[in-house]
Amino acid sequence: MTCPHCKEAISENHSEQHIAGCWKQERLRILAELQSAVCYCGGFKTARQTFCRREYNALPPDMRRALYRRFGDGYEEAYTAARVFLAPTVTMETDQ
Ligand SMILES: [Zn+2]
Ligand SMILES: [Zn+2]
Repeated sequence: MTCPHCKEAISENHSEQHIAGCWKQERLRILAELQSAVCYCGGFKTARQTFCRREYNALPPDMRRALYRRFGDGYEEAYTAARVFLAPTVTMETDQ
């Protein structure tokens, strides 16, 4: 199987540990990104806001609302879902 975070191939019997470790790293990265003034796309954003205005405006209302959840209480999941929505070609597997 493939780790959903680092995209590395991992063996089944170590997958849970591996994914938990990568998710921890990913959460730290998401938090640092939230506090910075640079959006993941390289655009300018306000610190403590998740995305630049262009991407925030592209999100459906329920996804925008989800980004107001607290970190550690659904925010990271909301961020991940929003990223998948904004860049489906990057985050999703393509049909062969
Ligand atoms: Zn990984
Ligand atoms: Zn952006």
